Amino acid sequence: MNQAHLTGPPMRLRLGGQVLPMVGRVRMYVCGITPYDVTHLGHATTYIWADAAERILRWHGHNVTVARNVTDVDDVLFAEARRRGAAHTMLATLQRASFESTMATLQVRRPDHSPSAAQHIGHVVQLASALLDRDAAYERGGTVYARTSEAYRRTALDHATAVERAEEFHDAPEDDEKDDPLDIAVWQATGPDDEVSWPSPWGDGRPGWHAECTAMVLALFGSGVDLHCGGADLEFPHHACEAALAEAATGVTPFARGWLRAGLVSIDGAKMAKSTGNLVLVEDLLREHSPGAVRLLCLNRPWARPWQYEPGLLDDAEATLEQLYAAAAKPGMQPGAAAVPAALLDDLDVPRAVAIALEDGGQAARTLIELLALS
Ligand code: ZN
Repeated sequence: MNQAHLTGPPMRLRLGGQVLPMVGRVRMYVCGITPYDVTHLGHATTYIWADAAERILRWHGHNVTVARNVTDVDDVLFAEARRRGAAHTMLATLQRASFESTMATLQVRRPDHSPSAAQHIGHVVQLASALLDRDAAYERGGTVYARTSEAYRRTALDHATAVERAEEFHDAPEDDEKDDPLDIAVWQATGPDDEVSWPSPWGDGRPGWHAECTAMVLALFGSGVDLHCGGADLEFPHHACEAALAEAATGVTPFARGWLRAGLVSIDGAKMAKSTGNLVLVEDLLREHSPGAVRLLCLNRPWARPWQYEPGLLDDAEATLEQLYAAAAKPGMQPGAAAVPAALLDDLDVPRAVAIALEDGGQAARTLIELLALS
């Protein structure tokens, strides 16, 4: 373990205006992909930020354990597999391999755990049972619904917008079996079009998306995590419901001590998403640019702020990277060498760390390049 922090200034992570003290071990959970299509820049931004946070914490002596899940039980995956005339397990395996290879090229460290929903069905059943025991859920016709009508209050959304979001994320607010439109299915009874199902105490069915992540976090880490990461669009309903389910089942709050939700990337003013056909594919960017430039493009900005992709930004990132390499070639141990990791710990302030590295050069620039894997 790096002992430098014992004699230096106090080192603690500040995230989104909140101090998040960590002692030794850090448990990190990252909401992963649904493996049905190629990786776009919006995905990459989320995983590069999670990777940067992990590297910064490691640099400061923390023992970080990361789990990044794969959502391999999901309607969009099944629909895409049907469209291609392929088994969904085959499609998921191929897309997962392609995603992992892109992440490796981008120097995103391999997670310690890569749980998938299909491997954790038993834990979702345990979660549903726990929620029923605590009267935080009810069963109707083989589906177990959780009482998550208040989960939106964890966010700044009003009720009407929360219902719209629930619709957008396929939480079926219109389902009149529910006591409340914002309740969610933890366990979903098998319907006529469903191609996969597992047995449960309530009949054949499959897990609900939010419950999958909750079950995987609880199964891998116990009652919660120190840092929970994902894209900004996951705040509601996904993260809010995930946390509500966990806290209702375990009685332990908070489920996540800190949230790192990377700002969404838009292109031509619209969110980058497969569903809108608005995509910049990482493999296309990597044909003409270095992985370091793609990382710097994603990181050299406030982490929570949404941003708009334009091709010129990648040329700018490439130019900044060249300046950093030139600065790193200067000899010496300038005072900025310690200021760089300190700036990164302060709300992951990459722009300030880059400014210090460019101004001081030498060890400061070498530290930044190594710490953020920009080489
Ligand atoms: Zn998740």
